[in-house]
Amino acid sequence: MKAVVYEAFSAPPKIMIVPDPTPEPHGVVVKVMATGVCRSDWHGWVGHDTDIQLPHVPGHELAGIVEAVGRDVTKWKVGDRVTVPFVGGCGACPECHSGNHQVCDRQFQPGFTHWGSFAQYVGLHRADINLVGLPESMDFTTAASLGCRFVTSFRAVIDQGKTSAGQWVAVHGCGGVGLSAIMIANAVGANVVAVDISEDKLALARALGAVATVNASEVGEVAETVIEITRGGAHVSLDALGHPTTCFNSIGNLRKRGKHVQVGLMLAENSTPAIPMSRVIANELEILGSHGMQAHRYDAMMEMMRSGKLAPEKLIGRTITLEQSIDALMSMDRFEGTGVTVVTEF
Ligand SMILES: [Zn+2]
Ligand SMILES: [Zn+2]
Repeated sequence: MKAVVYEAFSAPPKIMIVPDPTPEPHGVVVKVMATGVCRSDWHGWVGHDTDIQLPHVPGHELAGIVEAVGRDVTKWKVGDRVTVPFVGGCGACPECHSGNHQVCDRQFQPGFTHWGSFAQYVGLHRADINLVGLPESMDFTTAASLGCRFVTSFRAVIDQGKTSAGQWVAVHGCGGVGLSAIMIANAVGANVVAVDISEDKLALARALGAVATVNASEVGEVAETVIEITRGGAHVSLDALGHPTTCFNSIGNLRKRGKHVQVGLMLAENSTPAIPMSRVIANELEILGSHGMQAHRYDAMMEMMRSGKLAPEKLIGRTITLEQSIDALMSMDRFEGTGVTVVTEF
């Protein structure tokens, strides 16, 4: 099969012909129909992820058609249209037993712990636990945009932030994660303040339901500005970028007993950011993380898509070929363009 392969960290990946994957007894092989390009792929490529062993095939935001099925798989058959969350569970550890496959002790992450979906085929483990069937009405490009940024935002806003109607939600960073969070928070009736340094991204944020926007490059104090707009601070605030500044602002703009949810990855030199801990204590703030979402929680999100409350297809920026994915991957740290880039030609 054709795949994007890198043999050294930060060295340009190449298109190579590699052996087709075969399914594990508990797994399937999926013919990749669409795969998103994400900043996490960039983190992996530059060497920030210790799970990755070289040579490596990136790609974790995928949708496709089941091509081959392992002998122990009972729920899936050849021809099924599927996607997966970027963290797959083992099904046997205490976290999986408690229903929290997103923090499984033995995670399967395509494109990180194993070869991913920047390829014509990808092997997926523990298919009965980790695969999600796609409704006929959902195209592969939209489905590919769900598995990482959209579900992580859904878990951040709904399951971790417990956002409810009438609350103020601040979203710092309006890339794929941030725009997803804005759409989801707006759908449950929250008032969203979006923060970014790009007017184009803020315009898209307003189109997706943000009722106020803050251009961080134009205001002196981002946190103070959000507190003014929200008349006392956000109930829930997300760092959707993953940077010490956005993390600090997100905690700084909370009202008393507010919740900060860290969604953007903090890796390498950014892995231990400064946090205003005195404020956390005095105001009884909560600091939470969001790390993907279990396959069994997709149902609620899918129902909101079926009813039209969530429209992830609005987040698609451009579609590209597997060859073009190499440039797209290498430039993910420059935050060019708006919306999610998806590979749709293999
Ligand atoms: Zn991703
Ligand atoms: Zn597990």
